Amino acid sequence: MSEAVILETNSATPEHRDILIVGAGISGIGGAVHLKKELPNKTFLILENQDSFGGTWKTHTYPGIRSDSDLFTFGYKFKPWTGKPIASAGAILEYMSEVIEENAIDAHIRYGSTVISASWSTEQKLWTLVANDASTGTTKTYTANFLWMCQGYYRHAKGYTPEWPGMNAYQGTVVHPQTWPEDLDYENKNVLVIGSGATAATLVPAMADKTKHITMLQRSPTYFAPGENRNELADSLRELDIPKEWIHEIVRKRILLDSKEITRRSFEEPEALRAELLAGARAFLGEDFDIEKHFTPAYRPWQQRLAFVPDGDLFTGIASGNASVVTDQIETFNETGVLTASGEQLDADIIVTATGFNLCMFGDIQFSVDGTPVDFSDTVTWRGMLLSGVPNMCWVFGYLRTSWTMRADLISEFVCRLLKHMDDNGMDAVTPTLSEADQHTAIQPWVDPENFNAGYLTRGMHLLPKQGTALPWRHTQDYYFDRDDIPTADLDDASLQYQHGQKLNRAVGSE
Ligand SMILES: Cc1cc2nc3c(=O)[nH]c(=O)nc-3n(C[C@H](O)[C@H](O)[C@H](O)COP(=O)(O)OP(=O)(O)OC[C@H]3O[C@@H](n4cnc5c(N)ncnc54)[C@H](O)[C@@H]3O)c2cc1C
Repeated sequence: MSEAVILETNSATPEHRDILIVGAGISGIGGAVHLKKELPNKTFLILENQDSFGGTWKTHTYPGIRSDSDLFTFGYKFKPWTGKPIASAGAILEYMSEVIEENAIDAHIRYGSTVISASWSTEQKLWTLVANDASTGTTKTYTANFLWMCQGYYRHAKGYTPEWPGMNAYQGTVVHPQTWPEDLDYENKNVLVIGSGATAATLVPAMADKTKHITMLQRSPTYFAPGENRNELADSLRELDIPKEWIHEIVRKRILLDSKEITRRSFEEPEALRAELLAGARAFLGEDFDIEKHFTPAYRPWQQRLAFVPDGDLFTGIASGNASVVTDQIETFNETGVLTASGEQLDADIIVTATGFNLCMFGDIQFSVDGTPVDFSDTVTWRGMLLSGVPNMCWVFGYLRTSWTMRADLISEFVCRLLKHMDDNGMDAVTPTLSEADQHTAIQPWVDPENFNAGYLTRGMHLLPKQGTALPWRHTQDYYFDRDDIPTADLDDASLQYQHGQKLNRAVGSE
């Protein structure tokens, strides 16, 4: 995607839709369903660069790939989740395929379409998108009144691997989980997984049974919350034959209330919460295991994503001796593996660099407004959804603590409300605009690093839009605030500048 080459230009008339969505991941598909239900007369198309839907859940194919938050809240509000709370990528794709089928979304998706540029014309009140079309090997041009960016937050084509000294000398195989080779044979091999996040914690137990030995090498520890992969409340309600729609709604409310409490405690009583999380690990690993060294992070619980470990599988793998954890710095790679700063040689046939993502802003698309290139780091976000100076465009960036989809759903409702408001009032364009007074408010990073400091965000924060200190220019990353604020946000606020006018009558392409 990032390295997209501009293909031969196709000069055919642009295909027009009321709305173009970029990305057929959980956000884009959810947005499409909201459009179908809430604005059935609108035409829309999803442009997706891969050859199928799913986004994250299609891209990642490494052993054991699963969610790290529960599917009652990672699933959509409108479609009950009936499986186990932590789900495999396969189960999530199955759920999404049902959503696509039940809502007849398939005809609205154009796969193999990589959007490379998006230009807004104030005169025409129109976005023009150019996409590389894999089926024809040419570019194709689309126009739309409104652009809905659901392209996710990281570069799908390539994960993040730091440059370590001596990497070229290593004779074994280096693999990044984001581009997992289908035929990778790790049976009876020594495997070293570099990283300590949810991906490493998934890979280690999933591979441990087949490998000769698997080692997780981490620079610093992460918090993990072990627990049974079941939801007791859902199980009880199912026993009572309660309709699945009700169960979905009730269990979501319970989970959200519980995680609100955990978030509160992470700020107000971090030490007590830390002690509980560590006790969870100790219960699996025993008194003799050095929890202090390997599973006690330096940061406050929830300052980075807290990964649920279903049935404590990471810890049982370690306790069984099939897997081990080393907490140390990498001094250098060498022919047979890695030498750590404390002088330990870790030999491996395969090294997996579970070292995270490359933040990718707006799908690597070149944006312009009336011919002027848009640098998103110069924009200020309107409630984390719209951007100052960028007309008729909404952007989905989900929650980091609460499931991503909780915000994607709220944003979908907002977009439908905004589009309806514009139609009802004969308005063609909306541009979030900082007033004279707003220009002087303190401008802050997209996410406060004190609040959340995951590596990929810290590395890429300079690329992200900014936020202000007060609404509507604040981006709280707080579901419990947003669920009251977003549905009631004033669409006639002075920060939203509308243009009235006659829409150009355009031919609609076939769907
Ligand atoms: C392994 C893994 C596990 C995760 N687990 C969880 C979890 O349990 N809970 C949670 O809340 N979050 C989780 N996340 C975060 C997760 O990415 C999001 O929650 C969610 O899946 C993002 O969905 P999305 O549709 O917004 O973006 P994505 O899933 O990234 O999908 C975006 C789609 O847009 C396409 N696209 C991008 N640019 C272009 C372009 N220029 N032209 C055309 N198409 C384009 C991409 O190909 C992709 O298919 C996880 C992330 C990873 C990597």
